[in-house]
Amino acid sequence: MKHKCDRLNQVIAGIKINYPDHENITPPLELLSGRMYLNFTADKPCKGKMKQVDVPVLLSKCPFCGEKYEDDKEVTED
Ligand SMILES: [Zn+2]
Repeated sequence: MKHKCDRLNQVIAGIKINYPDHENITPPLELLSGRMYLNFTADKPCKGKMKQVDVPVLLSKCPFCGEKYEDDKEVTED
């Protein structure tokens, strides 16, 4: 069974209240797994200079309820 809690929807509902003119509020979700990620930043050498890049880190647990996300290998079609 896929992880399913309503907290993310509640957060999005809260954003809509605080920013009523915003549309298409998109959480940092990885599309394939449905897991949330955090974007870290780092400096990476690029053409003799340092360039700031994003480093996405996929979370192993839901940041809202703390439930562990399913391991992809254990997911079966049923
Ligand atoms: Zn959750």
